[in-house]
Amino acid sequence: MEQNGKIYLDYSASTPIDPLVLEKMRPFLETRFGNPSSIHWYGQQAEAAVEEARDTIASILNCAPSEIIFTSGGTESDNLALRGAALIARKNRSADHLLISPVEHHAVTRTAQQLADWFGFDLEYLPVDQFGMVDPDDVRRKIRPTTAIVSVIYANNEIGTVNPMAQIGAICQDQGIPLHTDAVQAAAHLSLDVRKLNIDLLSLGAHKFYGPKGVGVLFKHQHLNLLPVQTGGGQEQSLRAGTHNVAYIVGMAAALEIAQAEQISASASYRAFRDHMEGSILEEVSGSQLTGHPTHRLPNHSSFVFEKINGNKLLMMLDLAGFACSSGSACKTGNPEPSDVLMAIGMPSDLALGSLRITTGKWTTTRQIDRFLDKLPAIINRCRELESQ
Ligand SMILES: *Cc1c(COP(=O)(O)O)cnc(C)c1O
Repeated sequence: MEQNGKIYLDYSASTPIDPLVLEKMRPFLETRFGNPSSIHWYGQQAEAAVEEARDTIASILNCAPSEIIFTSGGTESDNLALRGAALIARKNRSADHLLISPVEHHAVTRTAQQLADWFGFDLEYLPVDQFGMVDPDDVRRKIRPTTAIVSVIYANNEIGTVNPMAQIGAICQDQGIPLHTDAVQAAAHLSLDVRKLNIDLLSLGAHKFYGPKGVGVLFKHQHLNLLPVQTGGGQEQSLRAGTHNVAYIVGMAAALEIAQAEQISASASYRAFRDHMEGSILEEVSGSQLTGHPTHRLPNHSSFVFEKINGNKLLMMLDLAGFACSSGSACKTGNPEPSDVLMAIGMPSDLALGSLRITTGKWTTTRQIDRFLDKLPAIINRCRELESQ
C-alpha cells in the first residue's frame, strides 16, 4: 500500500478492503438491496446472505450461528458486551464487581468507567507485567462470586502483547463468571476458536482484517444473557436492533475467511519483517526501547519508545518523509497526554510521550521496510534537534 508517495505502515489502525471482499459486497449495494427483515423475495435474498455470513463466521469461531451478533464494529461490540453483561448480572445475581485489565482499548475502559461512575459498579483493574500481560493467577486471586464480568484484551493494539486467553478463560469458567475479550487486533493473526479459548464474549471489527469499516461481531455464548444496548426491531434476537448492514456483513465474513485461511502462511513472513525491523531500530537508534512483549506479540506489530522525542512531532515528520505510522492508539493522535497503556506498564511519562507503532500488512514489501529503516534514524535525530532548540 503506497499512495501519493506515502508508505502505509499503520495496519493496526485500519486495513484497506481486500479487492476480493469488495467484489463479494458489490451485489448487495446494487441489485440485492432488500431489507433482510422483509417477507418478499428481495428480503429473502438479503436474509440468505446475512445468514450465510453468520454461518461462515460461526464456523471460524467454532460456535453456533445463533451465538453471533452483528454490530456496527469493535466499539459497539465492546459496549454491548460490557454494559449488556454487567446490567444483567446485577439484576440476576446481584453482581456489581467489574474486573478488567488496565491495557484495554478505550471502548472497554470508558464503558467500564461509565458503569462505575453512573451505575454504581465497583471497577477493579487487574495488574499487568512490564509487557502489559495479564497473569492468570491474578485473575484467580481477584475474581469474586459478585464479579459481573471480566474483560481482558486478546492482543493489544498499542504494544502488540498477546494475553494467555485460554488459561484466563479456564479460571473464569471454573468460577462461573463471564469473560469478555476484545479480539479486534487478534482476528487477522490468531486463532478465534472460542471453545478452546474458553471465552463467553468476543468482539471483532471488520476493518482490522481487510473488511469494511462500520461493521463488527459480538460472539455471545448461548448460556449468557445480555441487556440490549440498542433497542428497536427484533433483529439479532432483539439483542441489537436496526436493519442489517447487509453488504458490510457479507464483506466481513469474506474478509474473516480470507484472513484466517492466510494466517498460518503469512505469519512467518510477518515475523521476519518484525524481527528485522526491531533488530535494526534498536541497534541504529540510540535511546530506543521496545514496548510490549518481545515474543508473545502480534506478528505484524512493532512498538517503541524513544528518549527525548515528542511522538506526535515524530509522526508528522515521518508523514512528511513518506511514512504513515502511529503512536499507540490512533484515536489518541493529537492528544499530548501519555497513553494509559504505556503508563499501566510503568513507562515514565516523558518516555511514554515518545512512542511509535509500526504495523505491517499483506501489501507491505521488503523494499518499503528497508526504505523506512534507512530513513528513520536521521528523522529521529532531526526530531531531537528540534526538541532541544
Ligand atoms: C480498532 C479497535 C477497536 C474499535 O473497533 P472499531 O471497529 O474501529 O470500532 C476496539 N478494540 C481494539 C483493540 C481495536 O484495535
